[in-house]
Amino acid sequence: MSRRIIIAGGGHGGIVTGMLLAQHGFQVEVYERNGKDNMGYDWTDIFDPKAFKAVGLPMPPEELYEYKVNMTFYSTNEQKPIIQDVPENEREIKMERRDIYNYLISHAEKAGVKFNYGYNIEGAVIQGKTVVGIKTDKGEFYADLVIDACGCNSPVRASLPEDFCIQAHTKEYEKFYIYRAFFNKATEEPVKDQYKVCMLPEGKTGIGWVATEEKYSDLLIGRFEEIDMAEAQRTAEFYRSRNKSLGTEILRGNTFATIPVRQPLGKMVANGYAAIGDSAFMTVPIIGSGIANSIKAAAFLATTIIKNKAVDYTAEALWEYQVVFYKEIGAGLAPLALVKLLLTKLTPEELDYIFEHDILTWREMTITADSTKLSKMLSFSPDMPARGVAIVKNKPILKKLLALVKGMAKVIVALQGMPKSYDEQKVNKWVAKYNSLF
Ligand SMILES: Cc1cc2nc3c(=O)[nH]c(=O)nc-3n(C[C@H](O)[C@H](O)[C@H](O)COP(=O)(O)OP(=O)(O)OC[C@H]3O[C@@H](n4cnc5c(N)ncnc54)[C@H](O)[C@@H]3O)c2cc1C
Repeated sequence: MSRRIIIAGGGHGGIVTGMLLAQHGFQVEVYERNGKDNMGYDWTDIFDPKAFKAVGLPMPPEELYEYKVNMTFYSTNEQKPIIQDVPENEREIKMERRDIYNYLISHAEKAGVKFNYGYNIEGAVIQGKTVVGIKTDKGEFYADLVIDACGCNSPVRASLPEDFCIQAHTKEYEKFYIYRAFFNKATEEPVKDQYKVCMLPEGKTGIGWVATEEKYSDLLIGRFEEIDMAEAQRTAEFYRSRNKSLGTEILRGNTFATIPVRQPLGKMVANGYAAIGDSAFMTVPIIGSGIANSIKAAAFLATTIIKNKAVDYTAEALWEYQVVFYKEIGAGLAPLALVKLLLTKLTPEELDYIFEHDILTWREMTITADSTKLSKMLSFSPDMPARGVAIVKNKPILKKLLALVKGMAKVIVALQGMPKSYDEQKVNKWVAKYNSLF
């Protein structure tokens, strides 16, 4: 069997899959549009460090990360805080994005992965019903398998023919348009909420956070529609009026990006093709964390490929990757896509009511990339009856929550019906049904 693998785009999951495959003798090349020195973003990220262990990597040097503090959530009126309580063994780490990349790339290079920087990928090269390579601004490159790690707006995924049944583009409310910048700290006085997240801030559909760090204030504005710099600046001013730590001098970032906040792809494999990370929409739909999931998914993809020594890289051979991904991670993420949709349907007043009447509590808001299992979040708590009464008293909220529960139940049932082995007709029928639920 030939073992030439192209990683299209230097997404985290792609690089790590490449590393694991190269360790097993596969010939792996990454094609990435950026240069080695400007991979990722100029800011820090929070993620589950257990992802490293899942792919056999040691923890990075201690000076490169710190443990994240609990987040405090507010609704529009910012009256009632909900503070997370992340258990010790689920604490996430905060690390510079560039350090994460340097760490993963150095391990991949050590394993033998070749990196080609400065290549802009335009799409897939397809022969018949098989992906056989990638088109770039510097020519076409061929391989036995293309692993799509090009992120949320992947041109590879977007170029696949419709009959592959792989969703090409995100729909409305399926990605966050983000503005992020680090500002100077306007005060050295201690702040009440070090990591403050606002849902539906100013009554606008989206989220925002102000994290007050030792040397800077980190502002993130997330909306379901694109915003320009003027709107980002106006919104920053709004946050400044409520967060005395947020200064006006821009230290880092000051750019826009997108994050998928939707269910994972209904179908992430085709003949000669597998999607991973943001290109397969593996983020936690409410909070947009995707680094740990994409690294953990690398273990599933690499294992599937290595195990299937005797077969070509058909959709049939790769399907096991999707089945394992959904079993381990995806089944917890998909129903959360409906919770996110609820956010787009609630009025600011309804969200305030939900906060003020303890309908949402620290239990539900303790969402980390490692605790998306619904059973964990919705486990019985002593305040359940009181919460039930508060819901019943507010008819519009009751109606929306009942619709959410019904929708989530349908998604859970559909997930259980995902074919365990690959039969094209059955799989495509299942994918169409799954996609229709969101
Ligand atoms: C503002 C912001 C904050 C975030 N914070 C967190 C966080 O705290 N924790 C967390 O877990 N996640 C966070 N995320 C999400 C996280 O970035 C992704 O989920 C994670 O990186 C997995 O995505 P990926 O690596 O697959 O894709 P990406 O990070 O999008 O990487 C895709 C790669 O492909 C390359 N590429 C894309 N198109 C082409 C092309 N045409 N040709 C060649 N190369 C191409 C890109 O240059 C990039 O290197 C954040 C995202 C944003 C935007």
